[in-house]
Amino acid sequence: MADEKTKAEALREQLLYKKKSVFETMSGTDVERAGEYADGYSEYLFRAKTEREAVKISVTMLENAGYVPYTLGDAVIPGGKYYLNNRGKALFAFRIGTEPINSGVRISAAHIDSPRLDLKQHPLFEEEGMGYLKTHYYGGIRKYHWPTIPLALHGVVTKQDGETVEVNIGEDAGDPVFVITDLLPHLGKTQGAKPLDKAFAGEGLNLLIGASPLLEEDGTPADGSDSVKLNMMRILNDKYGIVESDFMTAELCAVPAGRPVDIGLDRCMIGAYGHDDKVCAYPALTALIDSEDSAHTVICVLADKEETGSDGTTGMQSALLTDLIGELSDALGGNAALVRSRSMCLSADVNAAYDPLYSEVFEKRNAAMLNSGVVLSKYTGSGGKYSTNDASAEYVGKIRDMFTRDNVLWQTAELGKIDEGGGGTVAKYIANENIDTVDLGVPVLSMHAPFEVISKLDLYETYKAFLAFCK
Ligand code: MN
Ligand code: MN
Repeated sequence: MADEKTKAEALREQLLYKKKSVFETMSGTDVERAGEYADGYSEYLFRAKTEREAVKISVTMLENAGYVPYTLGDAVIPGGKYYLNNRGKALFAFRIGTEPINSGVRISAAHIDSPRLDLKQHPLFEEEGMGYLKTHYYGGIRKYHWPTIPLALHGVVTKQDGETVEVNIGEDAGDPVFVITDLLPHLGKTQGAKPLDKAFAGEGLNLLIGASPLLEEDGTPADGSDSVKLNMMRILNDKYGIVESDFMTAELCAVPAGRPVDIGLDRCMIGAYGHDDKVCAYPALTALIDSEDSAHTVICVLADKEETGSDGTTGMQSALLTDLIGELSDALGGNAALVRSRSMCLSADVNAAYDPLYSEVFEKRNAAMLNSGVVLSKYTGSGGKYSTNDASAEYVGKIRDMFTRDNVLWQTAELGKIDEGGGGTVAKYIANENIDTVDLGVPVLSMHAPFEVISKLDLYETYKAFLAFCK
């Protein structure tokens, strides 16, 4: 037989779609680069467990790349590189392009908050000689994931005198960590018979932080039923100068302790807390920084509060993006409404990777496969496409064109089977401002667990996708 293709082979290639894997499309050099890029990401992720920490490290990266602080109303010039730090919890980084502002701006919007356990305003209590902190979970968690794993405490406390101190316990070598205890199997019979989402109560997620009382000068334990609590407060006071009432003016949260790690004998995946959504924030931010020769005005938004509905001053529903576009349009002689109508946005968020161990909740033909590149989700939402931005065919076509031009491996996906569940992103809030928007991001295994898994090569394709978009 000659090498010639049969008619069916030729037509199959021409007419039918076949999802490719990164291993078919990536060169050896790309794989190497992807590994280095993933190392940079892992370091970022370790330092960005909360939105405040993510803002901090992102600002450092931006300043190293020549970006300067911007306040609404400041003058801006073409070629100028700026960042707007929104209350230390959200960030807008942008570069003014050389083309007229009225041709629209390119926006990539990720979120930097992740599900976790926030401390209540009166968290500290003692019970039978053990000290605890009460928590109120933040975002969508599966409560059974959180007991018996090492937890660190991150956040800030604003003291009576107005000073805000930063708290970080459990990440440095030699630091203690905290834990939520669970029943032993021997006594877990009743608990084990409960439905999974009833077996653990939100009010039960209390952090064990110590078990020794305050000692008097002579070494004897202090009298009183609160001597362990007192001892915990003494230690916190020594370290941070805070008193119990300062918890009322604090934002402290328990997050999984430890660094991101490579997963697999081949080390091709990363396991860590907080991939959702730093795994999209990092590529969006680095693509902005690395696309200096672009003629477009590019804005990278790192938003807070996505996991709880995008509300408030630091969430994507705040007026700030619209205000910023308004200010930039004014400063550059444009028309803000026109600018928004001609702008393009990638809502940078993760999607669920198809998991063969839980195949029953996925619809295989429309699921994101690990190692098949960046995932584009035309719509999210649930139950009959409710509560979603459904990007237009024309807009998705423009994005497809960019990806084809720059050899980005991409796939499309929905989040699981119809009526199995669902979820949303910041996309609809931006689209509601009359800005064409579509979701794009990295497929994640065990999404919203304290330890999520992503593929390094998918991460790199996502970076390439944001670069293509910024250009
Ligand atoms: Mn997300
Ligand atoms: Mn999420």
